[in-house]
Parts: sequence; structure tokens; C-alpha cells
Amino acid sequence: MDQVREVKGLVFAQANLVGRVPDVSNGGVFTEIPLVQRIDPIFGTRTRFVQGAKLQPASKSDISELVAPGGFCPFCPEVVERFTFPFPTEMVPKGKIRRGKALVVPNILAYSTYSAVGIYDATRHFVPIEEFDASLLGDALGAMVEHARDIRAFDPAAAYSSINANYLPPSGSSLIHPHLQSSHDYVPLARQAQLIERARLHREQGGASLLVDLVEAERATDRFIGSVGEVDFFTPWAPSGFREVWAVVRNSHDVVALSEAQIDSLSIGLARILASYAAWNLLSFNFALTGGGPMSAEFGLNPLFRIVARSNPDAFYRSDVTYFERLYAELMVDVTPEETAMEIRELF
Ligand SMILES: [Zn+2]
Repeated sequence: MDQVREVKGLVFAQANLVGRVPDVSNGGVFTEIPLVQRIDPIFGTRTRFVQGAKLQPASKSDISELVAPGGFCPFCPEVVERFTFPFPTEMVPKGKIRRGKALVVPNILAYSTYSAVGIYDATRHFVPIEEFDASLLGDALGAMVEHARDIRAFDPAAAYSSINANYLPPSGSSLIHPHLQSSHDYVPLARQAQLIERARLHREQGGASLLVDLVEAERATDRFIGSVGEVDFFTPWAPSGFREVWAVVRNSHDVVALSEAQIDSLSIGLARILASYAAWNLLSFNFALTGGGPMSAEFGLNPLFRIVARSNPDAFYRSDVTYFERLYAELMVDVTPEETAMEIRELF
């Protein structure tokens, strides 16, 4: 590693490499092109920044046919009450949770012990990425947090919580009608387990709070985007996906402990990130808001929000996940987190 910055036990490692390739503009003469590899201080995943790949879409995809109403959709206003079930009232007292245009109902796929689907807008089939405003996002996240609190009260042992989203098919979403999903389980998700173990070690080694220390280490760098209330937004040193942004919620230790003000702050920031995605012609994304499990307060672990852009839903689209990402946990990307942060910062 050529460059190592260490702040409170958080190591920001980087290797400055060169790729040796023929120069197509100079008769194939071999030349050296800079190639940077970084290692993420939290998850240990690696990123290589390449030059001249042009992996970003140059123009907006036409998705009008994909998102047009018609065909069967269980979340559309005419049928949503008929095709979604209520939770048992001992589990979720309201049965279905409503907030503004958002509706939270059970997920019919048993991927976690307890789960839910949150429909951002149960009054229309599609919400374009440009139309996610802070109030729509805040209502949906707020309703999902309310569901999470109900589940935790019903079964306190299901303490590994997260609220997540796929948007459009390239992200893994099987339904076009935009929705979020949650998971409340006895066991953590893989990255959740890694985050918790990292926070435990950080505390053991005398650190205060892993993610607050990370934010403080990044605050003065050109990856820091800005803060809304108690939520700090920044781009990660070594992203795992395109245009990745992270946010850390200060003074909170779990998804179920988020205050209304913190949910609002996160939603305001998220709306600005999605506006940036729209400006970059990006149409699909995943996000994850991860809670720290039963020991989160003891380990000083804050809720961590991460969002990545995915490939656009074009016919015969090129996946953003190649063997690098899928089999080596190493992102290959042509846009640095510093460039992403600089552009989003204009909206903060
Ligand atoms: Zn629909």
C-alpha cells in the first residue's frame, strides 16, 4: 500500500498502481495509465478506480413502457386493499400502517423472520426518481420504523433490523411499483454482522463510536457532503457500488430508536441524493439502513445508511456487477467518491 492514513484505528489504505496497455491513439504503443486501488476501513472491501471507461449513462433511458400502468400490480390503488393482508394485531396493532401516501403491509416472501413491504405511494403505480421528495420518503421511512418498533415490542429477540430498498428491475426489484422492504431477525445479515464485529473491536480498542469516529475522520476531506440535523452524509473511501453515499445518524443506536427529526433529516438528504442520481441520468438504486443488533448501544454503533446506483433498465443492459464485484468483492469504477461528493454537495 502506497498511502495509509490512520485516524483512531480507522485505516484508509490506497495502492497507486499503473495499468500497462496499448495506446489506441498512438499506434498501439504500450503506455502506463494510473490505476488506484483502495480498501474500505470498515468492511475491508476493495475498489479500483480506472480511467476512461465511461461506465456512466450518457443520456436518460426511456422507461415509459416499463413503468406504464396496466397488467397486474398488487400495490395499485384499485386492488391494494384486496391483495395485501394486515399483520396480526398482536404483532402490529394497526394491522396495516398508513402515513401520508405510504402503506406498510406484510411481505409475502419469507426471507426474514419478520419483514414488511412499504409502498411509498399507494395512490399511483410509479414514482419517477425525480419525484421522491423528503415528505414522501419521510412518510415511508417513518411508517417502516413504526412497523419495526411494533415488531421489536412483539418479539424483542428479533433484534437485527434493517430497512432496505430495490428500485426498478436492475436493482433486483420484481415489482415496478416502488417499495421498500425491512428485515427483523434473530441473526444479522452478512454485512450487518461485519459492521457489528467492527464496532465491538473499535470499542474494545478504546474507540468511542466506530461510525462517529469515521464521520469525524472524513469531515475535513473532500468526501464529506454535509449534514442535515443529526445525520452526516459522505461518500465512502472505497465504495462498493456506483455513486455510493453513506449517512450516519448521530445520537441513535438502532433503526427502532430513530426519532421523527432524525427520519426527516435522513429523508431530506436522501431526496437530494436521488435528485443528483436523476441529474446523472441514473434510474435504479439500492439502499440499506442498517441497525446494530442487540448490543448496538453497548458497542456505540449508530444506524448506517448506504445507497448505490445500479445499471439503468435498458434492454440488453450491461450489469454494473461484473466478476470483480460478484466474486471478488472489488468494485471497478471510473468515478471517484470525491467527484460524487463534490457534485452532491451543491445540493446541501
Ligand atoms: Zn402499481
